[in-house]
Amino acid sequence: MLLTITCTRPDGAAWAASDLGYLLHKNPSRIQAFEQSYGVAQVLYPEASEERCTAALLLEIDPVRLVRGKAKGTPEFSLAQYVNDRPYAASSLLAVAISTVFGSALHGRCKQRPELAETALPLRIELPAVPCRGGVETVERVFAPLGWEVRATPLPLDPAFPEWGDSHYVRLELTGTLRLADALSHLYVLLPVLDGGKHYWLDSTEIDKLLRVGEGWLVGHPEREWITRRYLNRRHALVQDALARLAELDDLEPEQLGAVDDTDDETTDADASAAADEPVTGGEQEVRPPSLAVLRRATVLNALREAGANRVLDLGCGQGALLREMVADKAFTEIVGIDVSVLALRIAQRRMRRLPEWQSKRVTLRQGALTYTDASLRGYDAAVLMEVIEHVDAPRLGALEHAVFGSAAPGSVVVTTPNGEYNVRYEGMTPGAFRHSDHRFEWSRAEFAAWAHRVGETYGYTVRFEPVGPVDAELGASTQMAVFTKGIAATDSDTKGAA
Ligand code: SAH
Repeated sequence: MLLTITCTRPDGAAWAASDLGYLLHKNPSRIQAFEQSYGVAQVLYPEASEERCTAALLLEIDPVRLVRGKAKGTPEFSLAQYVNDRPYAASSLLAVAISTVFGSALHGRCKQRPELAETALPLRIELPAVPCRGGVETVERVFAPLGWEVRATPLPLDPAFPEWGDSHYVRLELTGTLRLADALSHLYVLLPVLDGGKHYWLDSTEIDKLLRVGEGWLVGHPEREWITRRYLNRRHALVQDALARLAELDDLEPEQLGAVDDTDDETTDADASAAADEPVTGGEQEVRPPSLAVLRRATVLNALREAGANRVLDLGCGQGALLREMVADKAFTEIVGIDVSVLALRIAQRRMRRLPEWQSKRVTLRQGALTYTDASLRGYDAAVLMEVIEHVDAPRLGALEHAVFGSAAPGSVVVTTPNGEYNVRYEGMTPGAFRHSDHRFEWSRAEFAAWAHRVGETYGYTVRFEPVGPVDAELGASTQMAVFTKGIAATDSDTKGAA
């Protein structure tokens, strides 16, 4: 099993191609061997000049060790334990070797050449045999959106018998200008995905690994659901969890993502499932009811319109899902998005840039913490705190209340937060767990109402409540919303309580 990475120095660049050795933390002048549980990994450089440098990762798999290692995923019938493609095909074992042998490079760490680790380099990656049941087209679909020029050549089943047709292996050549860490992370995630073969037991830490290594590219990948499903071997609960967390990183709800077939989480016959398992691009779309995220944005926008707001603050705007809808309505003449997360703001910014100018020019994005007062936020018609308060530590919530209701003091404040009571309606959710790992609390309707009334009284706002999403007779709706209005005397109908 062989992987080669070639780096070419562009004319006039201030670095040498052989600096690839620093990035990989492997000296080009030596051959180095690393014992692995399944064999030996060697790193060597067939070429290392200033202009061009090629690093090769060569895996010699010991099939006997693979069997002894147990649970290493070779098929369970006896001969196949000894006769299989693992020693020759670039699969999950190569991914494991990338993470153990090139771990620092995979995570973009390089003390000697930190700037080079951040630089997109002209790279060429070659893999002589990649198992891929979906064929050449699948390889294209997963690598091309990441900026690679893809050349995948099917390998014949047996060159001596061309009439037998092609095997499910391809020779893969990827060319592109990318950071080395990104290139390695693409291989790390996508090689096992293309292979589809299980090779070790997966537990929930795999999700963290997937999200960490796929950071920055998996969220925006058009085939992210298919990739996630295949990476996690279609293990239902893990896949659902991972899709939910990806959706949190983006602005979709998990229910907007592809339905996961929960019957095949233990599929062993990869051939049988391969056809059903192809990436879905286009084709038939099921009609689904609007997701909770969609309903929530619509309800918040309605509340803002009812309040007659023109100049609006989106506090904790995240990646700008609400901003994108606000700018489409000319009634909102000035929109300010604030968030503490630079990464989220960067994504929001990118989305704003794609909009027509008449829309994007009404939006300002700023980094800031909502627990500190900011005089420039005073005088707005309305502020939105959509799914934000539950991210704030309870002891800091008072500071946020003061900064928003006391200092910025807009005419109206629209707050949404999960209704914790509703969680029991979510199948598969552990009792007592939160919907997101960053949530500090998920209040019941009574807790939210008590908080809202106290805040309203303290800062001179009346409050009314509205459910978001289908209302369960017993538990209320999944999301609860409070609309605060400054200075209007409370009436009974204004305070009818959380529905
Ligand atoms: N309102 C958006 C994002 C909700 S996620 C939406 O509904 O789609 C919560 C957001 O609040 C995150 O983007 C997080 O970075 C931000 N946030 C949490 N605590 C914050 C604080 N103290 N100051 C500013 N932003 C905060």
